[in-house]
Amino acid sequence: MLTDLTLLAGVLGDKTAKALDKQFGIKTVAELLLHFPRRYSKRGELTDFSSLPIGEVVTVVGQVQSTNQRSMKGRKGSIFEVVLGDGNGQLTLAFFNQAWRQAELHAGVQGLFSGKIGAFSGRLQLTHPDYELFDAEIIDQQAKAWAELPIPIYPATGTLSSWRIQKAVEKVLDARHQAQEVIPAELLEKQKLMPLLTAIEMIHRPKKDSDWEQATNSLKFHEAMLLQLGLLERRKKAELEEAAVYKSGALLSRFDEGLPFDLTPGQIDAGTQIAADLARGHPMNRMLQGEVGSGKTVVALRAVLAVAESGGQSALLAPTEVLASQHFRSIVQALGPAVTKELGVRLLTGQQPLAMRKKTLLDMASGNCRLVIGTHALLSENVSFFDLGLVIIDEQHRFGVGQREALKSKAKNSPHSLVMTATPIPRTLAVTVFGDLDVSSLRELPKGRQPIVTHIVDISRKDLVARVWERVSEEVSAGRQAFVVCPKIDPQQTEDTGAMVPESEDLESEPGLEPASVTSVFASLENNKMLAGIRIGLLHGRMSSKEKDEVMDQFESGQLQVLVATTVIEVGVNVPNASTMVVLDADHFGLSQLHQLRGRVGRGEHAGLCLLVSGVDRETLAFQRLDALSRISDGFELSEIDLDVRGEGDVLGDTQSGGRSSLQLLRVVRDAKLIQEVRPLAVEVEKAGMSEQLTLVLEIQDAGQLARG
Ligand code: ADP
Ligand code: MG
Repeated sequence: MLTDLTLLAGVLGDKTAKALDKQFGIKTVAELLLHFPRRYSKRGELTDFSSLPIGEVVTVVGQVQSTNQRSMKGRKGSIFEVVLGDGNGQLTLAFFNQAWRQAELHAGVQGLFSGKIGAFSGRLQLTHPDYELFDAEIIDQQAKAWAELPIPIYPATGTLSSWRIQKAVEKVLDARHQAQEVIPAELLEKQKLMPLLTAIEMIHRPKKDSDWEQATNSLKFHEAMLLQLGLLERRKKAELEEAAVYKSGALLSRFDEGLPFDLTPGQIDAGTQIAADLARGHPMNRMLQGEVGSGKTVVALRAVLAVAESGGQSALLAPTEVLASQHFRSIVQALGPAVTKELGVRLLTGQQPLAMRKKTLLDMASGNCRLVIGTHALLSENVSFFDLGLVIIDEQHRFGVGQREALKSKAKNSPHSLVMTATPIPRTLAVTVFGDLDVSSLRELPKGRQPIVTHIVDISRKDLVARVWERVSEEVSAGRQAFVVCPKIDPQQTEDTGAMVPESEDLESEPGLEPASVTSVFASLENNKMLAGIRIGLLHGRMSSKEKDEVMDQFESGQLQVLVATTVIEVGVNVPNASTMVVLDADHFGLSQLHQLRGRVGRGEHAGLCLLVSGVDRETLAFQRLDALSRISDGFELSEIDLDVRGEGDVLGDTQSGGRSSLQLLRVVRDAKLIQEVRPLAVEVEKAGMSEQLTLVLEIQDAGQLARG
């Protein structure tokens, strides 16, 4: 929507331009102007340190209370510590071998400080923060007005601070630029909105709070309008496309007769909707969302049978090898040997032996295989289909838009597509992010499912931790199985969950803070007396696919009773006899990830138990996540909490938003009302034929002048 114009380098200099690109993917003037402040501070108001999120980059307003320069214990070098105070609590700054900072950082000075928040010996700390001090004279002279002026705080990183971004933005704002208004003048007036340029100016350089408040509202409205216009356009396009017509027949009715259970009402409704889509002559574009364990696979399989009835092919794409092979096994079982053979059901993964893969590829190309289940291997160039009619994406939030399209592009005509997710997505969000998907929801679980009880276990309580293993052994004695999930594979592996790792070797790290790893936990459980005689397995992403398959087979068949695993089991894995999920260092996982993990148990007739072992402080966001999980079982409710804590892009997976999100201010859930209200207005704008020129254009009029200025 934005025109690529001036390279920022000409305006800001190479260094800043490069940093903006590297840290935020900002390449153009327009993109920089649309990098909005996250919030506003005031010089007169010190930041409340008590709620700073550990592990995140923050910008705070603080005042130096005291400083301390000393040499380090037992080794060379010195440490300069600065204690910042706010109205509420303290924050320590640590500088190693930088004694010269004593000259500028002394008691009484105030400023902005920025860095990644760590916690050491129970104190919040910024190591080698970046800072900008306020000018003491100005504080005295113009105290009041100055203290009231809102300071924009931008999303920043450790290397690109908020105030550097602010300066870059100001430079660009000072240049002359123009914007093409998206919204007709009468509508602006009627809705009491600022024109686009004014709003952009005011969101970056407000003189008072009401400036940025009004600017934010105006820009949100603009975003909602662009969003709706975009959707209208996509819908129009989709209506013009044609697709094969599939009608279900004997294959499906025989399958239904043989089902060992009754379909839930949700499964029946979804089936009816899908059948109608497949028979319509236009590509189906449907999302099937349902709680973990709600039975999405059988719905998908019924669609496959309808397509296979007239010889059409289906492809089921799964995010992991473990899940793909489990789908393959359970689908083969559900279909029975005769139908499996008739349809030529195949598995395709990158780790299979070449000869096997070649055979599958041939069967796909010749049309002998009417259902292939696979991983990313399905997307590779040498994969082709004879007549691909239906594309199914399982756990779609694990895939990016590009990957979904890559699979679809293997069809000669537009294929039907069904995407499935257990990360429930509020409807408004689904519609915005996935364009014009129709949505089917499985709101209820199959009958007879047992509720899952979730507890947080404080890792420092030895008795409680011992009780965890005792519970595991009780479940196993009762004939059931348990998962034990850890964040890491081995102790050396650095974690990729974005959790905080101490950055400086100079800081005393407490033993036992290392996040649990499957290899060490596996070893210690094998020696745990409480689990004596219990057969324990190990599963992680670095094992070969053969090993993984064997372990999963053994766990599914009950040969293994406890499975120590990384999140390779996070999605989709279905072992109804598993009743207990122990998550070690649970605070290292995100909310939806934990919800997924918990969904691995309570799938059979046994009550589920989920134990979240963690040493995280009660005051942290991470604890709040665990707490929410222990109280709430409804994935829908959790997803909205998750949205509040993080941005949409995060919840949907980064790949989803394709890097930079086009939504800056609008929060699809929180602003659902606005988005809906704008819809009819967008229809009007579109009818008036305005939408053609309605792209948001921010333009530098005279790049030469700007570079000089
Ligand atoms: P998910 O929606 O998480 O992908 P699955 O499709 O893996 O769930 O289904 C979970 C389990 O529930 C499977 O063992 C499946 O056979 C079973 N199942 C599916 N539908 C029903 C139903 N209507 N009644 C009983 N069990 C069902
Ligand atoms: Mg599933």
